[in-house]
Amino acid sequence: MSQVRVRFAPSPTGYLHIGGVRTALFNWLFARHEKGVFVLRIEDTDLERSTPEAIRAILDGLKWVGLDWDEGPIFQTQRLAIYKEHADRLIAADKAYRCYCTEEELEVRRKEALARKQVVKYDGRCRTRTGPAPSGILPAVRFFSPQSGETVVNDLVKGAVSFDNTQLDDLIILRSNGMPTYNFGAVVDDALMRITHVIRGDDHLNNTPRQILLYQALGYEPPRFGHLSMILGIDKVKLSKRHGATSVLEYQEEGYLPEALVNYLVRLGWSHGDEEVFSLSELIDNFTLENITKSAAAFNPEKLLWLNSHYMKMADAKRLAGLVVPLMKQRGVLSEGSSLDQTWFERLVKVLQERSRTLLEIVDGAEPFMTDPVTVDPEAAKKFLTEAIRPALIKLLRTLERVSVFEHDTLEAAFKSVLAETGLAMGKLAQPVRVALIGRTASPGLFDVMSLLGRDRTLERLKRAIDLIK
Ligand code: GLU
Repeated sequence: MSQVRVRFAPSPTGYLHIGGVRTALFNWLFARHEKGVFVLRIEDTDLERSTPEAIRAILDGLKWVGLDWDEGPIFQTQRLAIYKEHADRLIAADKAYRCYCTEEELEVRRKEALARKQVVKYDGRCRTRTGPAPSGILPAVRFFSPQSGETVVNDLVKGAVSFDNTQLDDLIILRSNGMPTYNFGAVVDDALMRITHVIRGDDHLNNTPRQILLYQALGYEPPRFGHLSMILGIDKVKLSKRHGATSVLEYQEEGYLPEALVNYLVRLGWSHGDEEVFSLSELIDNFTLENITKSAAAFNPEKLLWLNSHYMKMADAKRLAGLVVPLMKQRGVLSEGSSLDQTWFERLVKVLQERSRTLLEIVDGAEPFMTDPVTVDPEAAKKFLTEAIRPALIKLLRTLERVSVFEHDTLEAAFKSVLAETGLAMGKLAQPVRVALIGRTASPGLFDVMSLLGRDRTLERLKRAIDLIK
């Protein structure tokens, strides 16, 4: 068999959404598994709705999740002569015709058909038009759709699906402004780019018979088609904004790791036994089209979060530190010009990554370590920084002043000696100290906190809490 060639062909009319990334991912994995080629094509022929920002968002989104393309990006608007040449070829072969019906006329006829409860489709008026072309009207080009028989799509996912040709319209293939319509542009490009497999969302299944007829008319061999079931929300309704973030880059902003999103998305419509966690190379090894599931998959944000915490724990602290710094700057936890002690910061991240589900949770957990004086939660202060605990805090302060190396084990020993002296249980003293040191009741282990703060800041914060009680 010839080399596998697949493509991702987004229209740049909005952000890159979760469904789009899943389509791209399946194509990319299939290409990598088969040692084939992954082409990126930007279908930008809808001039009113395509924007440079949307193109940027597509490229940035794909790069963020690590889906690299081998060819492209190829922009359809740079290939207009090719579509025109193909449309002319169909006209010359009597497989397409020029249509002079104006938008306004078509709209009137559409309304009439609706009023008569008829199927809305082009009435074929220009099919048999003869004589000179009407002046002042730029024609569109329409395809002569067969008016009988059926077209069967042998879909790799859905199986054989047949379509009644009488339902098909004489679709416009080239608009009067010279732009190809989606179906025509996609067919010409998929043929010329030697695409072997078209894998896309099943919202395009209805377009496929039209595309097959266009391939036949142009004398090109159609590719294999595989249509992916759509992604639903957790309530089994088509995924939309209502269910939370649907743009990939929003997940980046919310502090997700790309490998978690990829791992999550691949399981929406593909399975390999009961396995849930896959590295990229395992995915490439195991990805085949046979394992694509027919039924629609539901997007479960909780499960994504679970996978993200898994990858957060596994990730290299140095890498996470690099990802967290810009987020901290964005959120004002770190000021623009300030310098960070890299080794110290990586130690902090290492302690926090264990207990953070997202990068933003690391940012939040890091905050009390970044700013002096620390902000103390008034509720926690009221509950834990009490007159009764003050003598023990003072004792701890005196003991810690004598500790020479501020490391986990020595700090633990010092702390325990205070417990022994005061007769307090671990929890009774640990919570007030935690509140004194980082202003909150939840934090990493106390001795990690102390050693991260270091001697001066630990003592200073303890003193401040003792004064606060007075
Ligand atoms: N531009 C189309 C879309 O974004 C491409 C569909 C296809 O893959 O053929 O939906």
